[in-house]
Amino acid sequence: MTTDKKIKCENCGNLTPSYNTVCLSSEDNLQTICLKCYNKTIAGALGEDYQHMDFEPIIIKDSDEIEHKFHFLHRLLGHIQTIESFELVEGSPGGYEFSVIGDPKEDLFELFTKLYERMKRALNKKHIYRDEGTRSWQITEEDIVHGQISCEHDSSDFDRIPMVIIDGKEISWEDFGQMLMTYEGFNFKFQIFDRSDEMD
Ligand SMILES: [Zn+2]
Repeated sequence: MTTDKKIKCENCGNLTPSYNTVCLSSEDNLQTICLKCYNKTIAGALGEDYQHMDFEPIIIKDSDEIEHKFHFLHRLLGHIQTIESFELVEGSPGGYEFSVIGDPKEDLFELFTKLYERMKRALNKKHIYRDEGTRSWQITEEDIVHGQISCEHDSSDFDRIPMVIIDGKEISWEDFGQMLMTYEGFNFKFQIFDRSDEMD
C-alpha cells in the first residue's frame, strides 16, 4: 500500500509530501511548514536572498541494471546546507539514501554534482548477492560490506529491531547474521561513518 500522504504547509498552504516538511516549535505553538518556506525563513534570518531550486527525481541504474528513482531535498541550516537523496518505499524515504554537506555559500549545483557522482559510484558497487541455491544473501568476493543502519518499520520505540540497508536493499538483522555465518571463525572490523561521509 502506498502512503504518500500529503501535508498542508501552514505557511504557503501548498500540499506537500510529509518528508518535505519541517516541524517548527516556538514557545506557544507547533507549525508544520514545507522545506521551501523553511529555507526561505533561514535565508531571511541570515539576511540573504533565497533562490529555491526544485530537484526533479532522477533514475540511476545499479550494477544489476535495476532502476532506482531518487528524490532530493535541499535544506539550509544556517552554518551548513545539505542535499539529501533517497528512494521511496511505501511513500517514505527508504532504500538507498545519500546526503552531502556544504558551506551555505557553496554553489548549489556544484554540491548537487558532488552528491550525484557519489550516488553513481555507490550504485556501481555490489556488496551482496542473492544465492538462489541456499536462498540467502551472501557477501561478494571482496569481503566488504557498506551499508546503513536502520530499524524494522514496525518495531516500537522501546524495542527497536535493527535492520541494515545494503546496496539499497533492506536486510533483516537475522539475514545479516546468516550472511556472516559463511565466515564463521574469521575476524571482522566494524566502523561507523557519518551519513554524509563516503565510505572508501
Ligand atoms: Zn510552504
